[in-house]
Amino acid sequence: HRCPDTRWSWVEINKGALRRNTRAFKSLLEPGVRMMAVVKADAYGHGAVECAKVMHAAGADQFAVATVAEGLALREAGIEWPILILSEPPMECVQTLVEHDIMPSVYTQEFALAYGECAAAFGKVGKYHLALETGMTRIGVDWRHAVEFRRGIDFHRGLACAGTFTHFATADVPGDWTFALQYRRFTEAVSAMREASIDCGLVHCDNTPATILYPETHLDMCRVGVGLYGMQPAESTRPRISLEPVMSVRARVTRVVYPAVGTGVSYGQTYSVGRQNTQIATIPVGYADGLSRSLSDKMDVLVHGTRCKQVGHICMDQCMFAVNVDPRRAVRPMDEVSYGDLVTVMGADGEERITAEELADIRETINYEVTCNFGARLEKVYV
Ligand code: PLP
Repeated sequence: HRCPDTRWSWVEINKGALRRNTRAFKSLLEPGVRMMAVVKADAYGHGAVECAKVMHAAGADQFAVATVAEGLALREAGIEWPILILSEPPMECVQTLVEHDIMPSVYTQEFALAYGECAAAFGKVGKYHLALETGMTRIGVDWRHAVEFRRGIDFHRGLACAGTFTHFATADVPGDWTFALQYRRFTEAVSAMREASIDCGLVHCDNTPATILYPETHLDMCRVGVGLYGMQPAESTRPRISLEPVMSVRARVTRVVYPAVGTGVSYGQTYSVGRQNTQIATIPVGYADGLSRSLSDKMDVLVHGTRCKQVGHICMDQCMFAVNVDPRRAVRPMDEVSYGDLVTVMGADGEERITAEELADIRETINYEVTCNFGARLEKVYV
């Protein structure tokens, strides 16, 4: 396990797993159906630039981000494939978008025309995707007003519609009626535009769960995010596709002590050593690294392939765990832990594995948030 020079904690990204997951999704798509890899939030914490390169080599055609800054970061790293921002950015950004060929999602006439004006001034055509509101109640033109909206901007020679999309609220719930309703609204709006001879560009609506569960809704392109990183969006998708987790979180032990019985650990001293022959070990991973403080005293870490209890409040940059080294009392007696030993906070060590889902369940959140959080400060090592 390669470790960064600067700190004994890191995120390990398994490029082979990312490649295999991308190919697994590509093989779900009929030939000709495109794959837009969603790499927003720095590829859900996995590192957008590195991931985009691997995904493209494995079959992703286009990339989606959330912000102008995320799009620029890809362009500045030399990534030349199509990039879509999944919402309408502030009007002040139109020139940046035009200069770097980053496509915005569009749903206001004001933005669309400002973008078209700017593109025309640069002698370019501003490609965009039309976002349709079909039930998520988040962004987009109301599906009933799609034709009217397009008529209000289509006169502009600086604009070209490269795509039309919507986003599902409940694709992960098999048989959900909201999903069916949103899909019907979306396809009705697309049909209405086509009847009016309006070019919709690539028509797309599927996220990871819809891509897995509803092949009939793939249309021209699928926008796959979480699944590429090896995480299941829901229990319902698990039997349909096998995916490999891409992110692991590792650390090395920075200190080991054998405190006396009754010694308190960390802020607030919520944990105190209950028996002799206990080691308390420290690792440099804290809540500022994405190890949410709500996991304190509730999570395990893996050392020498064995689970150990994290103990005491998780600090900003460090946390502690207990190792029972009394062979007569340990549930699973284990070797002593030493300075520099490898600790797995998320991922596999031997037969044991701590998944993003396990941490998400304790935190009462979803796997998406777990990897996003780990990606924020920890250095990434690609293996
Ligand atoms: N499309 C849009 C508009 C999104 O906001 C997202 C992510 O939330 C995705 C696609 C990808 O979703 P998932 O990660 O579930 O595949």
